[in-house]
Amino acid sequence: MKYYILFGPPGAGKGTQAATMTSKYNLRHVSTGELLRAEIAQGTPLGKQAKVLIDAGQLVPDEVVEGMIASLFDTVKDVDGFLLDGFPRTIAQAQALDKMLQERNAQVTSVVSLMIPDETIFERIRGRAAIEGRADDASDATISNRIATYHEKTEPLIEYYRAAGKYAEIDGLGTIEQVRERISALLDSLK
Ligand code: AMP
Repeated sequence: MKYYILFGPPGAGKGTQAATMTSKYNLRHVSTGELLRAEIAQGTPLGKQAKVLIDAGQLVPDEVVEGMIASLFDTVKDVDGFLLDGFPRTIAQAQALDKMLQERNAQVTSVVSLMIPDETIFERIRGRAAIEGRADDASDATISNRIATYHEKTEPLIEYYRAAGKYAEIDGLGTIEQVRERISALLDSLK
């Protein structure tokens, strides 16, 4: 099994570009944000707990997302690997992922990072709010908190994966098609 991570700040285009990678390698796309939004939509206790944090632009507890990921690793069998989108988001989650994979005789294959500047994050998320109607896209205060959370908790993962020799970064600016071509070229070079 291959375990790819699609990395980048909120609004970098991870969800949009995931299909380029899943179809190329027969991967299951796993977005922890989407899984959490499904819990919220179903009104589960976990969803109710998560909504307060998500709407404030904060992260949900590591154990919650780690549990979701582990259960998918154990149940999804009809693919050649996973594309993790929005996970890991903290060093603790990255360490938990390494442990989960070690227990399954596997390891992270590569991290594909889409990078955009903070100003672009705002523009992209404001545009998406109008189309997708995500509650956490609607308020500037929430977006600012998500950007701050990214810099504080998630950005340190760049060094974590760079040190492991697994980090590859792509310019996330430009059209969807331009970014897609950059990802494809990168994936070909990783082979
Ligand atoms: P996303 O769709 O990836 O932007 O995630 C939306 C929100 O869900 C984030 O702002 C967090 O509040 C929460 N979330 C998603 N993935 C994680 C994660 N791996 N760890 C903690 N919180 C997460």
